[in-house]
Amino acid sequence: MEKIILDNRYEIIEQIGVGGMAKVYKAKDRLLDRFVAIKVLKEQYAEDEEFLKKFNNEAQSAAKLNHVNIVNVYDIGEDLLEGRKIYYIVMEYVEGQTLKDLIDEKGKLSNHDIIDYSVQIAQALKSAHASGIIHRDIKPQNILIDKFGLAKVTDFGIARVSSNATITYTSSILGTVHYISPEQAKGKIVDEKSDLYSLGAVMYEMATGKVPFDADNSVGIAVMHIQDKAKPAKELNEDLSDHLNFIIMKLLEKEPGNRYLNATELIESLENQNSVKDQALEETARIPIVVPNKEKKKKKKAKKEETPKSEEAVYVSPTDEASEDKGKNKSLKIWPLALLALILVSAVYYFMSRPKEDVIEVPTVINLSQEMAVKELEKRGLKANISRTEESDDYDKGKVMKQDPEANTEVKKSTTVNLVISAGREVSVPDLAGLNLTEAEEKLKELGLSIGRTSTEYSEEVEKDLIIDQNPRSATNLQAGSKVDLVISAGPEEKIENIEVPSLIGMSEEQAESLISQYGLILRNIDYRESEDVEKGNVISQSISEGTQVAPQSQIDLVISTGKKEKEKEKDKDKDTDKDKEKEEDKTGQAKNVDLRLNINNGKDKFNVKIYKLDDNDKRSDILYDQNQTSKDLDENQVLQLNFQAIQNTKFEVLVDDESYGVYTVN
Ligand code: ATP
Ligand code: MG
Repeated sequence: MEKIILDNRYEIIEQIGVGGMAKVYKAKDRLLDRFVAIKVLKEQYAEDEEFLKKFNNEAQSAAKLNHVNIVNVYDIGEDLLEGRKIYYIVMEYVEGQTLKDLIDEKGKLSNHDIIDYSVQIAQALKSAHASGIIHRDIKPQNILIDKFGLAKVTDFGIARVSSNATITYTSSILGTVHYISPEQAKGKIVDEKSDLYSLGAVMYEMATGKVPFDADNSVGIAVMHIQDKAKPAKELNEDLSDHLNFIIMKLLEKEPGNRYLNATELIESLENQNSVKDQALEETARIPIVVPNKEKKKKKKAKKEETPKSEEAVYVSPTDEASEDKGKNKSLKIWPLALLALILVSAVYYFMSRPKEDVIEVPTVINLSQEMAVKELEKRGLKANISRTEESDDYDKGKVMKQDPEANTEVKKSTTVNLVISAGREVSVPDLAGLNLTEAEEKLKELGLSIGRTSTEYSEEVEKDLIIDQNPRSATNLQAGSKVDLVISAGPEEKIENIEVPSLIGMSEEQAESLISQYGLILRNIDYRESEDVEKGNVISQSISEGTQVAPQSQIDLVISTGKKEKEKEKDKDKDTDKDKEKEEDKTGQAKNVDLRLNINNGKDKFNVKIYKLDDNDKRSDILYDQNQTSKDLDENQVLQLNFQAIQNTKFEVLVDDESYGVYTVN
């Protein structure tokens, strides 16, 4: 099979997957000598300009994310393939399987594995949310598990591009609807809590081997997400810990405010088994036992909850082992405890019945853009004030780097939160000319810059693999964190001094052979054929016609006469003029000069054109033409004019860079 190389850099190795809007290939990055995954947009999207614009924007913002649990986006690009424009994203290649495959293989995962993967996914979300990116399509198909058990989330933000598709509930996206949050299903604007819901649905599937809601159509599933209560995960997996069951069901709360505040809080809860363990115990319990508040955090939560009782006092089932075994002991202690409960509960009621002062928990707006931070604060009834800007290496220009009051502080409604905005840091771009890629990378890294897009160009002066040019130029002031595009030398272009092919027709085989080598051409193939007009041993036709300009060492084929057919000889004698026979001769007749005009629109500087003769079964046989061409050979309409020799009625196929460009017949 012919190799497909995108942008002269990514060599496609094999297809590894296919999704709703793209095909995914494993490829080799020839420049950085590593494997990558390339997601090529399906054709119908490659023609939709608005879609492409969004696709580009989203891919670019996803490319800014850098976290061990997020599949790194390296590059986005476009190229021509079989004459069609294709668009693609180059990503980190993850060798392993999707979480979906893993669940399908194992059925239900262990508590340990659920926590392990969930923490990793939540870490990815935490990092992306801090950059203001919501995933919108968290599902097991978008979570890749590598061979070391490292979970990597892919497709950040991409779902936004296809969000129209997501909400139309067509059967092709059935998979998506299984993890969709109620607010997303209603078509509302979503925030980070929507990703938490979807993670809850993924965790539910890890725990039970089943999605929380299923129906035979997408709309049905979406409606269930909006209004139905999922069966507790523990009912489907009795080995699931109460702790995990509690977390999963909390994530699946319809009301975003009833889920965790953010990914950080979820991680804390996942990592700290005891923090919510008690809350998970069954509500059908009879005996109230007061659990003293160990953590400050919990107190805060209690105020938020609508039913403070369930936070302050936990009901333990009478069938609980502890209460059965130690029932007698407990009855002695229960009075002081109950008293304390009474005091606490009354305190909470007192608090609740006071004239309502709206208390708001300040969210973290660190690392959000100024605009998003202000929106986020105002959404929660707070005011924002930009105090000043400060230089920073750690925060991009325009992002919030400090906030006062800090996150999680409780304040009154309309309190002003002061923000310090990063002014980034300006650095002067170094001169990278003459360095190799690794040296350039180091030099840029020292300054807080990195390599952007790279391309190659032929150069007489600059050695292969060294940098010829850069953008922005050296000494330009640039924000730390920016990228510098590079042009790398591909070495000197082989000089093509064209040779004009001589006429060989009528020459003897030896003469033709000698002339071919004198002209610096190569004789590739000789066919022998009967001929009425050309003497035995002489050239009937040549694959590249006289006068054609070709590169040195071009290959040329000859057809040599084996003389007349026996019959013909007799016929000559008889001077028989049988009309049917004449027709027959016409068919196999003389080589003709064929002028061919090809519209080449591949935008390439160099390309190869081959013309194969097709046999009766339309299989490629003799090669009639084989030339490396340059864009200079094209006229102003991008038309390449070719001339070659072929026998009348021959079918031939034209290939440009080994891709078929059409089949023609010689008239
Ligand atoms: P959707 O179109 O909704 O995103 P999807 O997630 O199933 O659906 P793709 O994102 O196109 O589809 O991915 C298809 C498959 O390609 C994945 O299921 C996975 O097997 C494979 N894949 C995707 N990205 C990578 C990667 N970076 N490394 C290795 N394999 C990948
Ligand atoms: Mg995907």
